[in-house]
Amino acid sequence: MPHRFAHVCTACRISLKRDRYDERGQELGHRCPRCRRALVHAGDSFEAPPRRDVAAWRVVAVLLDAGIGFQQACYGCGPGYRPRSLREVRERARWARRTGRSLAGALVTPDLP
Ligand SMILES: [Zn+2]
Repeated sequence: MPHRFAHVCTACRISLKRDRYDERGQELGHRCPRCRRALVHAGDSFEAPPRRDVAAWRVVAVLLDAGIGFQQACYGCGPGYRPRSLREVRERARWARRTGRSLAGALVTPDLP
């Protein structure tokens, strides 16, 4: 199992592999080397989009803001469905509003009814 995990700054579109916990099991706070904001832990199967792909990073920001990371659901099976485009995010946000569901729940729903 990896000990270092992706920590991201969506404002700077930076992803860095960092230890998540110190030797006592306390969560470490990491700061973005560029803007000094707190880095957000993104999970063990996060794949950073290219820095120039601003739209893909906006999707990542929406997901992390909603509390959705990229932690594998089980060993080797990936995090499950995550939207990749702003269109997919918008469709799910609309569906959540219309049906009264949580945004977080809607965002991880692969096929909208
Ligand atoms: Zn930053």
